[in-house]
Amino acid sequence: MIFDTHAHYDDEQFNEDRDALLCSMQEGGVGTIVNAGSDVASWEDVRTLTAKYAFVYGAAGVHPDDVGELNEENFARLKEILREEKIVAVGEIGLDYYWDNESHELQKLWFIRQLELARELGMPVIIHSRDAAADTLEIMKEYARGLQGVIHCFSYSVEMAREYVKMGYYIGVGGVVTFKNSRKLKEVVEEIPLESLLLETDCPYLAPVPNRGKRNSSLNLVYVAKQIAELKQVSYEEVVEQTEKNARRLYNIL
Ligand SMILES: [Zn+2]
Repeated sequence: MIFDTHAHYDDEQFNEDRDALLCSMQEGGVGTIVNAGSDVASWEDVRTLTAKYAFVYGAAGVHPDDVGELNEENFARLKEILREEKIVAVGEIGLDYYWDNESHELQKLWFIRQLELARELGMPVIIHSRDAAADTLEIMKEYARGLQGVIHCFSYSVEMAREYVKMGYYIGVGGVVTFKNSRKLKEVVEEIPLESLLLETDCPYLAPVPNRGKRNSSLNLVYVAKQIAELKQVSYEEVVEQTEKNARRLYNIL
């Protein structure tokens, strides 16, 4: 079944129908979801979701846009939450020079601290990197070698994807791959082995064609998997099966 490796069902866009939507997942072919935390307030919501739904797992971390709210006190709290059974990864963490919400120095500092925390706890990482290819790779080479993880919503070149795959990382592919103007990501999907790809929505954002622009949900991953199957010239079933296997291995959900 489909494994959504990166979702945000804690987002207020799901307030109206969250339960009905999540209860329709199994029927829609979605077997497992990892809900990523993005700021300090999201951690409790992630815990609530994982407690309520057997098939929902969580990740906790602080997105580069929000690292200004981190301090030693809530960082200690993060460590506690990461020890909980259904919290399977540190994330999302990284660098975002597109929104540039926080200074690059502060982003780097907390990115490195969260990578070190993942190493200490022996946990995989979910990396967010936008318009920050060179700095991300530099930090990853120094602080993230030997860790397991995914470069989520991958938006860089094939060469960069190969670097990460060489380090043992997975490449997260979502709705963007179905966009007409996504030649670069399509090329990445063609060149990188299926064994290194993961399905993800980043919902409520980035809905694939034919639902582009609407609120996204894991049910739309059918379109992403179909596009990947077409690009790699394999069956839809093989894409779903292999990416699920990859995700289970990464998050250690057996
Ligand atoms: Zn995200």
